Amino acid sequence: MKQFLNFIHGEFVATGKTFPNRAPVDNRVLGLVHEAGRAEVDAAVASARAALKGDWGRLSVVKRVDMLYAVADEINRRFDDFLQAEIADTGKPLSLASHIDIPRGAANFKVFADIIKNVPTESFEMVTPDGGSAINYGLRTPLGVIAVVCPWNLPLLLMTWKVGPALACGNTVVVKPSEETPATATLLGEVMNRVGVPPGVYNVVHGFGPASAGEFLTRHPDVDAITFTGETGTGEAIMGAAAKGVRKVSFELGGKNAGIVFDDADFDQAVAGITRSAFENCGQVCLGTERVYVQRGVFDTFVAALKIKAEALKVGPSEQAGVGLGPLISAEHRDKVLGYYRKAVEEGATVVTGGGVPAMSGALAEGHWVQPTIWTGLPESAAVVREEIFGPCVHIAPFDTEEEVIALANATDYGLATTVWTQNLGRAHRVARQVEVGICWINSWFLRDLRTAFGGAKASGIGREGGVHSLEFYTELRNVCVKL
Ligand code: NAD
Repeated sequence: MKQFLNFIHGEFVATGKTFPNRAPVDNRVLGLVHEAGRAEVDAAVASARAALKGDWGRLSVVKRVDMLYAVADEINRRFDDFLQAEIADTGKPLSLASHIDIPRGAANFKVFADIIKNVPTESFEMVTPDGGSAINYGLRTPLGVIAVVCPWNLPLLLMTWKVGPALACGNTVVVKPSEETPATATLLGEVMNRVGVPPGVYNVVHGFGPASAGEFLTRHPDVDAITFTGETGTGEAIMGAAAKGVRKVSFELGGKNAGIVFDDADFDQAVAGITRSAFENCGQVCLGTERVYVQRGVFDTFVAALKIKAEALKVGPSEQAGVGLGPLISAEHRDKVLGYYRKAVEEGATVVTGGGVPAMSGALAEGHWVQPTIWTGLPESAAVVREEIFGPCVHIAPFDTEEEVIALANATDYGLATTVWTQNLGRAHRVARQVEVGICWINSWFLRDLRTAFGGAKASGIGREGGVHSLEFYTELRNVCVKL
């Protein structure tokens, strides 16, 4: 049986305590994950601290950047190993993982290596009271030991989105991958050793959140900062842990994103775009749209067209040709999503399509499948319109005016992303200015230039990642003032 071990100080570490890692497609046990206790978390943090003060801390930026390029190259050399590990853990279609998860996971090391090499700091010359002058310049120094706590929906991509810039800036990390997806973080340990990243720079501790590795790590007094992607409620718990010692946090949290389709949109493109934003990765994308507002004149035709698209999605295992929809991550998550499917009906929804479990044969019958689902007819107060479900489902409601739809989109505690479909340039810019989100896509969705700011407004997060914005979190900006 495969063992998923912790990676501490450059070595793979077993513990006495294991839990099974299950495949979402058929619930088979993929291997045993070794849960880190306080002792392993202490060892990982101590190793990260030692590396910071040792070889890694002394490495020049040029050498560090070269090493990160080597990490990216080695991930690409072992592309298939990463791909197989990711699709086994998540069940997502191979076409998705091979185009997004793994290549972007590797690219995250190169993008931030380039940024740290090329981005200047500020400099100011001043006149001093004695008539002389002084020069000020900014110096970016590493923040220290960073705790990286990750979710399961895009395991390698979202983890390296943090580890890439953290290491580029000269920090060391202790990663706590999701208990659902331990594989690629563990595999990355092999890559680090192979390319000669010093022991302690990259550590992995496995386990759960409360009373397990997640909590031990985020409460650890020798961790300098915490970067976290996951649910808003977990963010609140971690923020409490970070308060002790006034540690810096970077949070990418939940969402209940609105899609907005105006009647002047390119209809086919809008339908294709919302098909992706509602159902990609089986709806398990933080940026996904679980509520869509369509202008009344095209409402009925839009609902009919999205129904055709949803019903055409092929549900199945990762490697099968043409598969567009994989399973949900776990039995627990499937139960949660099906609970919302039931609730929608109880609250009076019209089920346009889906609402249940697809018939799967053989071993696949044990997997965590659900049907892509479309509802209409619910009030804005309905649970499935208000709460993040994180499944392949969407409620579609009509609207009449621009003002009305902006108010509808903003009537949520969350503020992560919006996708707006219109051919009217003025309207596109007006709406983009008024929606309360971190990311506003116009006639597109999930189109990412890694140099741009990524993050959420309101309860969807704290801070921005991407490009130079990541440097704001992963470095201390020191001002050096030189009296001339
Ligand atoms: P989660 O919050 O349940 O878990 C995320 C991680 O936090 C896991 O590694 C978990 O073990 C750990 N954790 C849980 N409780 C903890 C605690 N008390 N202390 C320390 N660590 C703890 O989230 P999830 O179910 O893995 O992911 C889905 C959620 O992530 C959704 O809400 C989704 O919107 C959000 N998400 C947001 C973004 C974004 O960029 N904003 C991206 C992806 C996912």
